[in-house]
Amino acid sequence: MNRTDVRTLQRFLKESGSYQGKIDGLRGPKTLAAMKTTLKAHADLLPAGADAWSDKRRAVACLQVACRLRKIEVGPIDGLWGPQTDHATEVLATIQETGKPPAPWRDQEPLDANPNGWYREAELKEALGSPTRKPPMVVVPCPWQLCLAWDLGTHPSGIGCHEMVADSLSRILTRVNDHYGPEQLREMGLHRYGGCYNKRRKRGGTSWSTHAWGIAIDWDPSHNRLKWGRDRARLAQPEYDTWWKIWEEEGWVSLGRTRNFDWMHVQAAKL
Ligand SMILES: [Zn+2]
Repeated sequence: MNRTDVRTLQRFLKESGSYQGKIDGLRGPKTLAAMKTTLKAHADLLPAGADAWSDKRRAVACLQVACRLRKIEVGPIDGLWGPQTDHATEVLATIQETGKPPAPWRDQEPLDANPNGWYREAELKEALGSPTRKPPMVVVPCPWQLCLAWDLGTHPSGIGCHEMVADSLSRILTRVNDHYGPEQLREMGLHRYGGCYNKRRKRGGTSWSTHAWGIAIDWDPSHNRLKWGRDRARLAQPEYDTWWKIWEEEGWVSLGRTRNFDWMHVQAAKL
């Protein structure tokens, strides 16, 4: 239970009318008094002997009661901080902030469509040739303004990619732009273009990167770093659900959505 969790507790105590102090994440006397009042009011939810628990354990129990009242699955009210309490508290905090529980990311399986017949990664060398020779390239214009992620003052006119993926990419960019609009896309960081064609090996690997064939694109790399998972990567947030749906309906694969790393990266090749 850290300071953020104590803030969540204080917000609950405030909402239930027993606390008028600051939301400062500190378990001071006002917080303790409010906890006492609230636990007394919900004594029916506590096991026998809970009166003898330490203040810390009672604070955890109080959060567990808060979750129980919100119908968040929290398990037994035992005042012990395990993974279930930890997750339930996170859900409670999201409800306090947004009025809604967090989006159930586990349920959102990536689509496995492949309407364009993209190759598997392992087939690329044979199908498209060795990346030591530059692939046939086309520049696909982007309907919203792009900035190079590493040089925001530079605005590429479009995305230079393998001609094989150009039509699909063009459809995707149009649909994305129709859905979000240029302003929102900028707010979402999707003007920060991290590059497409790049004759290189995989970072942290030895085989060719799909970038070496010009069939992969990186978006907003500074907020979606290679080793970040969905807890940190911006592109894992619920507002990007439609973004990913549009790519996946064209058969593109997000490494973030399928493997939970490299959220910046989307490719026209199956794993
Ligand atoms: Zn990439």
